[in-house]
Amino acid sequence: MSLKIVVIGGVAGGATAAAKARRVNEHAEITVFERGEYLSFANCGLPYYIAGEIKDREKLLLMTPQKFWDKYRIKALIRHEVLSVDRVAKKVKVKTPDGSIIDEVYDKLIMSQGAMPIVPPFKGLPAEHVFVLRDVPDMDKIDLFIKTQNPKTAAVIGGGFIGLEMAEALMHRGLKVTVIEKAPHILPLLDDDMARELVRDMEQDYANTLTILNAIGASEMGKDFVVLENGQKVNADMVLLSVGVKPEVALAREAGLEIGVTGGVKANGRLQSSDPDIYVVGDAAETTHLITGARLRIPLAGPANRQGRIAGANAAGAHLTYPGALGTSIVRLLNKTIGYVGLNSKQAKDAGFTFFTSTTRDPSHASYYPGATTVITKLLVEEGSGRILGAQVMGENGVDKRVDVLATAIYGKMTVHDLESLDLAYAPPFGSANDPINIASFVAGHEVKGDVRTIETFSEADFLVDVRNPDEIQKFGKLGNSVNIPVSQLRDRLHEIPKDKKIVVYCQKGQRGYLAYQILNQNGFQVANLKGGFLQARNTN
Ligand code: FAD
Repeated sequence: MSLKIVVIGGVAGGATAAAKARRVNEHAEITVFERGEYLSFANCGLPYYIAGEIKDREKLLLMTPQKFWDKYRIKALIRHEVLSVDRVAKKVKVKTPDGSIIDEVYDKLIMSQGAMPIVPPFKGLPAEHVFVLRDVPDMDKIDLFIKTQNPKTAAVIGGGFIGLEMAEALMHRGLKVTVIEKAPHILPLLDDDMARELVRDMEQDYANTLTILNAIGASEMGKDFVVLENGQKVNADMVLLSVGVKPEVALAREAGLEIGVTGGVKANGRLQSSDPDIYVVGDAAETTHLITGARLRIPLAGPANRQGRIAGANAAGAHLTYPGALGTSIVRLLNKTIGYVGLNSKQAKDAGFTFFTSTTRDPSHASYYPGATTVITKLLVEEGSGRILGAQVMGENGVDKRVDVLATAIYGKMTVHDLESLDLAYAPPFGSANDPINIASFVAGHEVKGDVRTIETFSEADFLVDVRNPDEIQKFGKLGNSVNIPVSQLRDRLHEIPKDKKIVVYCQKGQRGYLAYQILNQNGFQVANLKGGFLQARNTN
C-alpha cells in the first residue's frame, strides 16, 4: 500500500506541500482539497491586478488541477470543502461541488487553510460597496465595481500591508483614498518615528489624493461615506476592509488539535500539530520567532511556502526542521518602500533585551550618479554584544536589497561589527563604496564600542550647537535655542562654547555631528551627539 497524503487548502502552503511531498516520494498517493475555485493562485498579486499593473488575469492563476496532475500526478480537487477530520479513523469528510459528502482516508494530513479577513461589526454591513480581499473572486468583485460604478472616493479601513497596497491600487485607478487606522499609526509594526516620517512624506507628496487618519477607528458604513468613532464623516463611494485576518482553525479545533496562544494551530519544529500525523502550515499555524523563541503566527507568503515545503517533505518521509520566522516584510506605498525584519522597539523591550537604536540616512547609490534617493536605515542593536535584533528600512529605491541583507545578518546572528566589514557589491548605479548597510553599522558600532556619546532627546538646560551651514538652517529650521557654528569653523570658535554646560551637537543627519562630537570631546567638553541629527529629532522630540 502506498503512503496516502491528504492536503487541506491548495494555495500557498498547501500546493507547495503537495508538490514537495511528490518530489520526496514518487509513490505516495497525494490528494489536495481546495474549497475555492482556484488552486495555487497568486494572493500577493491581487492588489497589483486591481491597480492595473498586472494586466493579464490568467497570470495570477499559477496552477490548474490538470497541470498538477500532469506534472506531479497529484489529484487536486477544487470546490471540495473538508468538513471534518476524524483522527481515530484517519479520514476526512469532504463536501463535493454537487453537495454530496465523501470520505477520504489518510496516513498523513497537511492542513494549510489560511486565514479569513476580519469583518468588524460595523453598522451598515453587509453592503455592496464594502469589500474584503482574500482571493480571486474578491478581486473580480472589486474590479467590476470600479468599472461599472465609477467610484471617485474610497476608504481603506486598516493601514497594514494589504490596506496600503490597496490604497495605492485604488489611487492608480483614479480614486481619492482615505486610509483609516485605529492603531497609533499605519503599519503598526513600524516604530513610531519611522511611521511619522512616512506619514509626513505622504502628506507632502500626495496631499490631494491620499489622506491618512491615524489613531481613529471607523464605526459605520454609509452609502457613500464612512462614519468615524468621533462622528466625523469621510467620503467613500467604496470601502475596503483590511483590519487583519483570523486563522481558519475551526476544523483543527473540532478535531481536538492543540490551539496555541496566538490562536493558530500549535506546530512543533517539524511542523507537526499535537497529532504527529497531522502537519500544519501557513497563516493558520503557530510556530516560533527565530530571535525570541516566542510563539508566533505570521500571515505571510514566504513562511507559508517554506513551511509547506518542510511539512510536505516530512509527511512524505523526510526529516526537515523549521527554524522559525523573522517576519521579514516589505510593502510599497506610492513613491516609498518600507521594509522591516526582526524585532521592533516594543517587541525588543517586551522580550527583555537591552538595546539601542540607530538611524542613518544615506544615498541609495553614489550620490553623483543620477537618481539617488535617501535610504533611511534604523537598526535595533543589543547593548554590549552588538547583535542586530531588528531593522527597518524606508526610501524610494534600494530598500529591498538592504532589508534582505539585514534579514540574512539577523538570521546568521551577526553583529554590527560583522556588518562593518561586509563586502557588498558596488558600482555607482547600484550602491556606494560604503553601502548604507556599512554606514549604519559604523554608526551603531561606534555606540557599541563607546566611541561616541549619543542622545535621542535634549533638554532646555543643554547648550545646543547646530553644526550645519546657515543655508540649511534657513531651509529646514533649527532645534530649540541652538547656536549655529558650522563644523568647518568649530575648531576656531571653541571659545564660544561653555565648558561648564552639557553640550549637545547636531547636524542634518548625524555624520557631521559625530565629527563635531570628536572635536569637542577631545578638547575637554562634556558633549553628546544628537542621534540621527535634525531630521531624526523631528520624529522623536
Ligand atoms: P492561503 O494561501 O490563503 O490558502 C488557504 C486555502 O485553504 C484557501 O484557498 C482556502 O479556500 C482553503 N481552505 C480553507 N479551509 C478549507 C477547507 N475546509 N477545505 C478545503 N479548502 C480549504 N504575503 C507576503 O508575504 N507578501 C505579500 O505581498 C502578500 N500580499 C498579500 C496580498 C493579499 C491581497 C493577500 C490576501 C495576502 C497577501 N499575503 C502576502 C499573505 C499570503 O498570501 C498568505 O500569508 C499566504 O497565502 C498563506 O498561505 P496559506 O496556505 O496559509 O493560506
